[in-house]
Amino acid sequence: MTFRPPAQDLLARERRARLRAERLYEQVRRELQAANDRLTQHAFALSDQVMAQRAALERAQSHAETLEGTNSQVSQDLTLANERLRAAVETLQDGFAVFDRDRALILANHAYLSVFRDFPEVQPGIDYKRIAEICAHEGLVDLQDTSADDWVSMMMARWSGAAIDPVQLHFSNGMSIRLVERRVANGDLVSLSSNITETLRYQSELIEAQQKAEAATEAKSAFLANMSHEIRTPMNGVIGMADLLAETDLDDEQRSYTETITSSGQALVTIINDILDYSKMDAGRMELHPEIIDLEKMIHDVLTLLTPAAGAQALELIVDYDMFLPCLLVADPGRMRQVLTNLVGNAIKFTETGYVLVRALGMGSSANGQMVNITVEDTGIGISREHQDRIFTEFSQVDEGTNRRYEGTGLGLAITRQIVAAMGGNIWVESDPGIGSCFGLSLELPIGGDGGPVGPIPLPDTLRSVLLISDQLISREIISRRLQASGARVQTASQSGVALRNLLKTPPDLAIIDQDICREDGADMLAELMAQMGERPVVMICSNLAEARCLDRRDELRAVLPKPLLWRDLVAVLDGRAADLAAPVATMPDAPPPPPAVTRRLQVLYAEDNKTNQLVFSKMVQSLPLDLHLAENGRQAVGIFESLRPDIIFMDVSMPEMDGREATRLIRAETAGRDVPIIALTAHAMQEEIDRIMAAGMNAMLTKPLKKRELLAALRDHAPQDVDWQDG
Ligand code: ADP
Repeated sequence: MTFRPPAQDLLARERRARLRAERLYEQVRRELQAANDRLTQHAFALSDQVMAQRAALERAQSHAETLEGTNSQVSQDLTLANERLRAAVETLQDGFAVFDRDRALILANHAYLSVFRDFPEVQPGIDYKRIAEICAHEGLVDLQDTSADDWVSMMMARWSGAAIDPVQLHFSNGMSIRLVERRVANGDLVSLSSNITETLRYQSELIEAQQKAEAATEAKSAFLANMSHEIRTPMNGVIGMADLLAETDLDDEQRSYTETITSSGQALVTIINDILDYSKMDAGRMELHPEIIDLEKMIHDVLTLLTPAAGAQALELIVDYDMFLPCLLVADPGRMRQVLTNLVGNAIKFTETGYVLVRALGMGSSANGQMVNITVEDTGIGISREHQDRIFTEFSQVDEGTNRRYEGTGLGLAITRQIVAAMGGNIWVESDPGIGSCFGLSLELPIGGDGGPVGPIPLPDTLRSVLLISDQLISREIISRRLQASGARVQTASQSGVALRNLLKTPPDLAIIDQDICREDGADMLAELMAQMGERPVVMICSNLAEARCLDRRDELRAVLPKPLLWRDLVAVLDGRAADLAAPVATMPDAPPPPPAVTRRLQVLYAEDNKTNQLVFSKMVQSLPLDLHLAENGRQAVGIFESLRPDIIFMDVSMPEMDGREATRLIRAETAGRDVPIIALTAHAMQEEIDRIMAAGMNAMLTKPLKKRELLAALRDHAPQDVDWQDG
């Protein structure tokens, strides 16, 4: 039997089942929806990714395309650059090659390879050593006394050396190259060979031209030296004879003619000397022979020598030597004197009235010695600005009305400038036309020995007050400054008369008086001064010693000292250390000789080939009690010396057969000839010549044209003291 549930239950069950099915359906639907949403999102994400990747791909693709373009551009550029480099290297006239670190040739231009055109193996890849072997063994290169193997080894040593020196190679076809090789960073060797054939030819032409020019200059110098000798020899006759003529009885007109002959002759000799000197310097043959000099004394000596020239114009010559500047310095004495003489000589020449002042100033010391400034100042015609730059060049003279009456060559300052430059110094000029000029030198001179005393040299203690009488403002100032520095009270007077009389009411310990004042105010004033001074010393300073010698009361003066005053002379006479300076005669050129002991006649030998010179010499000594023996060349001179044993020999340097130097050497070689005085006579005034002459053993040298005064001075200085030859 079948049980059937009631319909209500069935409906409820069916409704519950339906509800369950609906809930399930709803859940599945939601899950499906969620899955669908996720799928959609994923699809979107995927599509974004795909888009991004596509964009990246597109970018990559375009980049790749760009790169490909660049790459081909680069490779094109590279090819072009390479071609350009090759073309450039080919255009080089110099050979160019590069070798790799294994010595293989990588690249060489045509110029390099053309040398090896007969050797086809010389091409990229060939070993550096093989190229060297071809050069050496195939006779391409002039090996210059080296064996082929040694030469190759030498080239290979260059290869392995750290620093490679350039080398010159000469090829047998006449070409010369300079091979410069450098190792570069990657180990390659770059080789550059410059063709220097033309340069060497040009160089050898230049050397040849230089040698020719030097030979020409030498010939010019020799010519000038000979010419000067040739001109001087007759000038010796002209001046010597004019000198002798002047000693005879002449009327005024004749005397003026003789004086003109002498002065023109002297001027000509000066010009010859200048030209000779300049030509030597021009040929670069000026040598300096530095030694210790006394600069202060040298300046005084130069001024003393030029005093007669200044005397003619009544110029005051003044020296102001810095008392703190050492006197002993090192310089070439001859050249230094030449510079000073030239500047002071010019200053005197171009100054009518006033003064010439030489100042030497210490400008401090340096590593090389003492800085010295020397100025030569004058109150002469001056030089205009536009001419100042030119006067230091050769043959340059200020060509103006004011100037043309002065003689000269226009070489003096050019020579001076060259000497100063050779001494490492400077020269300059400052000048105002119509007012005066100042030439200055600055030199750096080593100090000689201890330099000598520096600073004020004190006067003796007894001399505390000094009266200085001088009408020369500047020299009065300079002497006064020196006196004060030496500890003295100084009163100055510029003229005699009442003022001086007042000063002498209390007489000073010392009076210094300038001769010029006495000259103007007469002997009375000197007499008055002497009377007032009594036993106290009076020193006269003068520019004309001969005139001072004639003063009435000369003997009562403590001393007569030449102007410009050399301070140490003054101190010496006041100290009593130089009593002889008190006698002006002692400093006169024609001072009497000491009394002779024997009365035999002086035997003089004169060797000279030129008849005129013989005549001049004979005439110059004819009034003297001496026997003159003439020799015509050196050989005769030696013969006469051996037979006669003369007391003194005058020896011309240039003579035929045997010259004076050789003759002197032979005489000196004999025992009897060791001490005989030999005086050289020469027309060559150059220092080298003088040195050579003195080196031959001469005692002294006289330059031609011979002057009687110098001849007598040489006799006085060198003839034996025991023979009387001066009373003629
Ligand atoms: P020189 O005196 O033989 O003519 P320098 O070379 O010594 O030759 O001088 C050249 C020129 O310079 C002189 O001619 C002169 O015109 C000028 N000069 C030189 N020194 C002076 C001076 N102190 N005062 C005026 N002019 C001078």
